[in-house]
Amino acid sequence: MKLRNTSLLLGALLCLQCSPPKKAATATAGPLVPILPRSAWGAAEAKPYRPQVPVRITVHHEGTRLDPSADAAKKIFAIQRWGMGPDRKWADIPYHFLIAPDGTIYEGRNPNTAGETATEYDPSGHLLLTCLGNLEEQEVPPAQLAALVRLIAHCSRTYNIPADSLSTHRDHSKQTTCPGKNLYAYFQDGYILREAKALLDNRR
Ligand SMILES: [Zn+2]
Repeated sequence: MKLRNTSLLLGALLCLQCSPPKKAATATAGPLVPILPRSAWGAAEAKPYRPQVPVRITVHHEGTRLDPSADAAKKIFAIQRWGMGPDRKWADIPYHFLIAPDGTIYEGRNPNTAGETATEYDPSGHLLLTCLGNLEEQEVPPAQLAALVRLIAHCSRTYNIPADSLSTHRDHSKQTTCPGKNLYAYFQDGYILREAKALLDNRR
C-alpha cells in the first residue's frame, strides 16, 4: 500500500513536470527565428555576471569588416576572446545575440545579464543585438536585415519588451556612429520597427 502510494505520488510529480509552463505560449507564439547555441561558435565559459532584467532592445554593428563568405562562428569566438582578454576584462562576449551576414543568428551572453559597451552609456536593462560587419562601410546584406527584424520581434515577444523600446547604440552615445549609417538608415525611416511590429501582429 505504501509502495503504491509512493508510485502514485511519483506519477503525479512527473505529470507536473510534463505540464506546460505557467506562462504558456499563445497560439501565435513560438520562435520567430532559429538561434544557434553558444556551442556553435565554441564559446568559452563566462565569468561571473552582473544580473539584469532586459527591458529594451538596442542594436549595434560589430564594427569590423567581415566578408560575407568569412567564417562567422570563428569571428564570434575571436570577439569573445578579445572581450574577456586584458583589453577589456569582460565577463563574456559583450552582446546577447549576433547576426552573421548570411542571416544566421548566434546566441551570445545570457539575456539576464547586463551586456558591455566600449562607450559611455550604461547598457543595464538593454538586450544587445549586433550585426557582424562594419555597416558604416558595408551595405547591409538582405538576409542579415531580415534576420534582424525577426530577432527583434522574437526578443520583444520572448522577453515581453515593447517593440517601441527599440533603439540603436548611437541613440545612447555621442562617441559612436554604431550601428553604421547603412543600417541606421533602416531605423531612421522606420522600416525595422514597422516590419518587426507586422511580424508580432502576424501580418507577415
Ligand atoms: Zn555599438
